[in-house]
Amino acid sequence: MEILPSRVYHSQDMSAPPKKAVALMSGGLDSALAAALTKRLGFEVVGLNLATGFCTGQGRCDAVLAQGLALEIPVRLLDVSDEYLEVVKYPRFGRGQGMNPCLDCRIFMVKKAGEVMEREEASFVVTGEVLGQRPMSQHREALELVARESGLGERLVRPLSGRLLGPTFPERMGWVRREDWLDLQGRSRKRQLELARDWGIPVFTQPAGGCCLLLERAYAKRLRDLIREKGVDALTKEDFALLRYGRHFRLGPNVRVVVGRDEVENAALLAFPGNHYVLTFPDVPGPVALVLGEASEEELKLAAELAARYSDAPQGAPVRVMAQRNGEALELWATPMSKDDPRLRKFRIDR
Ligand code: SF4
Repeated sequence: MEILPSRVYHSQDMSAPPKKAVALMSGGLDSALAAALTKRLGFEVVGLNLATGFCTGQGRCDAVLAQGLALEIPVRLLDVSDEYLEVVKYPRFGRGQGMNPCLDCRIFMVKKAGEVMEREEASFVVTGEVLGQRPMSQHREALELVARESGLGERLVRPLSGRLLGPTFPERMGWVRREDWLDLQGRSRKRQLELARDWGIPVFTQPAGGCCLLLERAYAKRLRDLIREKGVDALTKEDFALLRYGRHFRLGPNVRVVVGRDEVENAALLAFPGNHYVLTFPDVPGPVALVLGEASEEELKLAAELAARYSDAPQGAPVRVMAQRNGEALELWATPMSKDDPRLRKFRIDR
C-alpha cells in the first residue's frame, strides 16, 4: 500500500494564510451543509468530490455539481480509483460489516483533500462528518485518528460538530469563534433537513443502505470469495469492476460464472475485456454470461445450463447457446436448470 507522506501543518508556516477551504463533498446532505456553513462564515470554498470506483448510483456527481451550483462554489471532480484500490485491499484499521474499510477510507480522502488544499492554496479542509452519526468512523476517537493519520490535524474541520470537537486552525487564527460551528451529534437528520431548507440546498435521496458498494452484502460476498480464489495481492482493477455486475456463481475452485441481470449489465459483460468465454442465446431473449477461469467441457456445459435458467427458453427443452472466446466460437445445447434446482443455491456466491 502506498503510504502518502504524513505532514504536520503549523500556522506559523504561512505568514498570511488565505481564508480559503477545500470541502469534501459526497453528494450527500451533510457535506453540502458543511461547505455551506463554511461559506456563510466568510470563507472562499472549493468543493471536492473523489471518485473511488466504489460509489453506487449514477447521480452522485450530478448531485455534487447541483449542490455546487446552489452554493455558488466551484467543484473539482477527481478520479482516485487506482490509488483507492490499495486502501480496499490493505486496510490498516479493519473493515465494517461489509468490506468497507471506513477509517482507512476517511484517512485516504482527507489526505487527498489535503493535497488539493495545497494546490489550491487553501488553509484547511472541511468534511460533513457528524459526531456519533456512524458507529465505525464518526465516534470521537475515530475523528481524532483521521485528523492525526491524515497529517492535517487542526486543519481538518468538521463544522457540523465543531463546537463538540477540539480546536481548529480557523479558530486559532481568530477567523471564527467556537460558537460559529454547529453542535450536531448522533443519527437524527432533523436539523440537517431544516438547515437545507433554510439555506436552499438541494437534498438528494440516498440509495437504501448507503452509496458505497463496499457496504453491500452481496458485493462483500463476491469480494471475499474472489480473495479466497486469487489472494488479495493478485486482484486487479478489472476484478473489482466485474464484481459490480450480475449474479455470481462458483463452479470450481478457479471457475466462476457471472450472469447479467438486465440489458445494462448484459452490455457491460459483453464489452468486458479478458480471456473468458462469453455465453449468449441467439434464438431466445436471454442474459449474457461470462465463464471465468479454465473451465472444463463439463463446467462450460453447466455454465450454459445455469445461464439458460435466466433466459426465456422453455423449461425442459434444450436451447442453443453460443460460447465465444478469443475469436473461437462453440455451439452448445443446454437444458435450462429449473429454478428449484438445488445447485443454483449451492453455486451462488452472493446470496
Ligand atoms: S462507507 Fe464506503 S465511502 Fe463511506 S467511509 Fe466507508 S468505505 Fe468510505
